[in-house]
Amino acid sequence: MSARPHRVVVIAGTATDIGKTWVSVELASRLVADSWAVEARKPAQSGGPDDPSDAALLAVVTGESDLVVCPAHRRYPVPMAPPMAAEATGLPAPTIEELASEVAGSWGVRAADVGLVELAGGVGSPAASDGDGAALAAAIAPDGVVLVADAGLGTINAVRLSVARLTDAGVVTEDVPVLVFLNRYDDDDDLHRRNRVWLADRDRFTVAVDVAAAVDWMIALVPMHCGYCGRPVTECDGACARPLDPDRFCVRCGRRLVVRVSPASHSATCKVHGSSR
Ligand SMILES: [Mg+2]
Ligand SMILES: [Zn+2]
Ligand SMILES: [Zn+2]
Repeated sequence: MSARPHRVVVIAGTATDIGKTWVSVELASRLVADSWAVEARKPAQSGGPDDPSDAALLAVVTGESDLVVCPAHRRYPVPMAPPMAAEATGLPAPTIEELASEVAGSWGVRAADVGLVELAGGVGSPAASDGDGAALAAAIAPDGVVLVADAGLGTINAVRLSVARLTDAGVVTEDVPVLVFLNRYDDDDDLHRRNRVWLADRDRFTVAVDVAAAVDWMIALVPMHCGYCGRPVTECDGACARPLDPDRFCVRCGRRLVVRVSPASHSATCKVHGSSR
């Protein structure tokens, strides 16, 4: 049995080699350091023998097997888009439906807090024999999309076209937001600063330039829980609140905390999230 993470976030890029894997690794590291349960997936990957494996880099951070992050039969040994690499090497090319159902069936038995799914190439790059990255994202039906973009020249064009494609494919909607992540952003660079302001103020995109802000954005995709009654805060009217009592439920997941009382101390921990809150 496989349980879908509470927040599935697709990591897309405005182009290939824009830093999707670096951003995914940084996001996962930060989440792990903050005691969030994270899984990472790379539906298909391709590259030459000397290219680093995205799946291996992600697996190191999440503590999963890299064959779970990307299955062996979805790895292609030449640096081309996956369906093209399959064609070039005589391997069967995947379909969108196959990739999406492999991801859906690969999650762990206990729902993680965040599942990161890194696409291959740019949003419009071929992802399967019958669709591009946006089509794959649509089939995965994420709760949010992080669009990794360059911070410098050309990024406004690339971001606008990528978001238009994601919207056209039905991935980004009123309920499924996109976060534009300006990778390698340098606040001392006048163009970077102007790109950020333009995208945020004129185009009304939500823009992040650091990993901490992107993590906060991902966590906020799903409401936290009430520490007194365990329900999502959006479903609790506050009538449960007893301000002098310690929390009895984990605010991250709503599980009942395991309470240990000794003459010297009182501890309440969640079996997934520990005592962090
Ligand atoms: Mg990558
Ligand atoms: Zn409550
Ligand atoms: Zn918890």
